[in-house]
Amino acid sequence: MRTRTVIEPFRIKSVEPIHWTTRPQREALLRAACHNLFQLPADAVLVDLLTDSGTGAMSTRQWAAVMEGDESYAGSRSFDRFRDSVRDIFGFRHVIPTHQGRAAERILFTVMCRKGDVVPNNTHFDTTRANVEFVGAEAVDLLIPEGREPGLRHPFKGNMDVEALENLIERVGRERVPLVMLTITNNSGGGQPVSLENVRAVSAVCRRHSIPLYFDACRFAENAYLIKLREAGYEEKTPKEIAREIFGYGDGCTMSAKKDGLANIGGFLCTNDDTLAQQEKNLLILTEGYPTYGGLAGRDLEAVAVGLQEALQEDYLRYRIASTAYLGNHIAAEGVPIVQPPGGHAIYIDARAFLPHIPQQQFPGVALACEFYLEGGIRSVEIGTLMFGEAAKMYLVRLAIPRRVYTQSHIDYVVEVILEVWRHREQVRGLQLTYEAPFLRHFTARLMPVEAAATQPA
Ligand SMILES: *Cc1c(COP(=O)(O)O)cnc(C)c1O
Repeated sequence: MRTRTVIEPFRIKSVEPIHWTTRPQREALLRAACHNLFQLPADAVLVDLLTDSGTGAMSTRQWAAVMEGDESYAGSRSFDRFRDSVRDIFGFRHVIPTHQGRAAERILFTVMCRKGDVVPNNTHFDTTRANVEFVGAEAVDLLIPEGREPGLRHPFKGNMDVEALENLIERVGRERVPLVMLTITNNSGGGQPVSLENVRAVSAVCRRHSIPLYFDACRFAENAYLIKLREAGYEEKTPKEIAREIFGYGDGCTMSAKKDGLANIGGFLCTNDDTLAQQEKNLLILTEGYPTYGGLAGRDLEAVAVGLQEALQEDYLRYRIASTAYLGNHIAAEGVPIVQPPGGHAIYIDARAFLPHIPQQQFPGVALACEFYLEGGIRSVEIGTLMFGEAAKMYLVRLAIPRRVYTQSHIDYVVEVILEVWRHREQVRGLQLTYEAPFLRHFTARLMPVEAAATQPA
């Protein structure tokens, strides 16, 4: 039997026009943006794959819930619904709303870490690394070696290297490791999932040393569905059952509801520890807001409460994972080097293999992302030397797919543009920095093409 096309499991009720530009216009726009796609006006982008963060389309149920928002300063009904929805899935005792994931990170690390501490993670996301370092602790990535080979196929390339974790704790001493984190799915490492077997193994090490285990849970639903597809023994379980099992091994989590919360803003911090929760709420009040709203409006809490449940629906996840793989498989079939197998929320192109003639210090990933924009108005993002500097282990360009936003024809167009660039890849030139900020420099960096820089007066 032929398998049928996996179609979008929704129909469209409201549309938003997108905008075409000409190539000369895009050349001028790119120059004005100093070759940093974060600096482009969004209206100058045709298909925006910069991020899947906060860019998803909300459902009719979420919009209906928005109208139910209770904007009371304290004790809002919307907080009860938010907390109940989070607890239903994550199961942690304390649920602390924040305006987005990094606010949860800042509060968590401020409360748990001291100068000189070491925080292991499979791979720190950029804001997570920055927040760990900001409190004077060291962020250590302990990904399995398979996770660093873009072309290598492995079902769980997000897994943590358990032996490396044991060795690290041994070397620095348990007192310097205030918590261990697992990022599910591993965003910076290619959107790759972590297996339940790995979660259990990491959790066992943490228990043995009495170190709390926290999840960076941004894409927990996609990770749960990839476990269902790839891990023996989970075929018959629902994504929610799998998610509950994952979080059952942890002591808390940070979450950006802009990802698998299917909301445009929001996040939360969870913990089972009463003392920590009190300190976290005290900090929350200082910068985010009262503990029944964090930095959010009541209507935002409602949208997240519904979105978290929708993100676990199986027809949605089947479409989500299939549409990401569709993009990856169509470009890989023509030889474009991508991180294999395709992950949950994005396709990652190996910029070093795509542009072997551009040295690492000339930002091959940024150069490639700029070329996709010039060729077809597509915006993507470098995950490599500009984002991570010396800590970069791979040189990738991420094409992140917003949730429930683009249809198959948009993706077909993206495939055409990427293949066009693939055919003239030898002509792409490297870039050099003209400005950088002291941290998270990729957001504001300014660059220029290498030849042009060479001819600038000193
Ligand atoms: C997006 C993200 C964060 C930070 O969340 P924000 O809502 O952008 O602040 C942290 N970790 C991971 C893995 C992420 O993808």
